[in-house]
Amino acid sequence: MRAADAASCAAAVASVPGAKFLAGGSNLVDLMKEDVERPTRLVDIRQLPLRQIQRTRAGLSVGALATNTETANHPLIRENYPLLTQAIVAGASGQLRNMATNGGNLLQRTRCNYFYDTATPCNKREPGTGCGAREGLNRIHAVLGWSEACVATYPGDMANALYALDANVRVRATDGRERLIPMADFHRLPGDTPQRDNNLAHGELILAIELPVSSAEFARNSHYLKVRDRTSYAFAMVAVAAALQIDGGTIRQARVVLGSVAHKPWRSAEAEAMLIGRRANVETFDRAAKAALRDARPLAHNAYKVELGQRSIVRALVRAAKLA
Ligand SMILES: Cc1cc2nc3c(=O)[nH]c(=O)nc-3n(C[C@H](O)[C@H](O)[C@H](O)COP(=O)(O)OP(=O)(O)OC[C@H]3O[C@@H](n4cnc5c(N)ncnc54)[C@H](O)[C@@H]3O)c2cc1C
Repeated sequence: MRAADAASCAAAVASVPGAKFLAGGSNLVDLMKEDVERPTRLVDIRQLPLRQIQRTRAGLSVGALATNTETANHPLIRENYPLLTQAIVAGASGQLRNMATNGGNLLQRTRCNYFYDTATPCNKREPGTGCGAREGLNRIHAVLGWSEACVATYPGDMANALYALDANVRVRATDGRERLIPMADFHRLPGDTPQRDNNLAHGELILAIELPVSSAEFARNSHYLKVRDRTSYAFAMVAVAAALQIDGGTIRQARVVLGSVAHKPWRSAEAEAMLIGRRANVETFDRAAKAALRDARPLAHNAYKVELGQRSIVRALVRAAKLA
């Protein structure tokens, strides 16, 4: 169904358990075809006026229904938040980015093969059935923050950059009020409720992503590195969103966010602590990379992600610092 405004769309979802918003459909419709998602009602939101990308006093507001292509190509984003442009264009394909919306991108679901295969157990798909990946083929799975219930990763790229840029997600709550969710709190670790990917309540509508002015100070020294099996049209094995503020060769501020290593984008406070106040050089980056993966707990088939993650952090920081 379609409704005229955000309030009616939100009410149409909130009032029906199992109802879902439909944006570009590039993830939700795929999952419906695979019988993984079975929404009881679809509420098409594409006609809502949530497509603007505009300056605000706090920074830049990026509409939930702006497409990934429009967002990546927008002059204000290319100029002030190039990390975001890099992350978006590293994802999917040109055709998909033309369909994919920013809200839908944040809410894309895991690419765990067991989640997609309805013949196998999966606590995320059907709570209480078990985790096929824990003892199965887990090459693409998590090395950080996983639980016995779920070892899936969050596969998206854009969210990693948004986290590094201190973005907030502006949401219309079911009581009609708006609230801001920091990227740090948007996605969840699996714990014993892996069926919940994020902290949105049923019926909450993403309105926009808010980028703070201060993050534009990372524009000169940031880099998004995505390592994957193929150089295009593939999800990350490991991704790194790196952003630095460098003053006379010394790092004043740092952001290191890893993608595809955990159930949510993984910001490494350990790596950042090893960077801030130190000289921007390979030795510093190496120490930060080791700190970031120190607590990694690889599974049977993904120990490679630990070294790959470390090397990717070093390379992303080298590029961010323009040392190579
Ligand atoms: C082959 C393929 C390769 C891909 N590769 C990558 C990749 O490398 N990197 C990457 O990051 N992504 C990749 N993607 C994922 C793609 O980016 C997502 O499918 C897309 O961003 C989802 O956006 P959408 O608008 O189509 O969402 P939809 O499929 O319409 O919706 C996805 C979910 O979000 C919810 N939703 C949508 N909008 C809102 C809103 N405003 N408020 C609340 N809920 C909402 C829907 O209810 C649904 O649950 C790939 C996809 C495919 C099919």
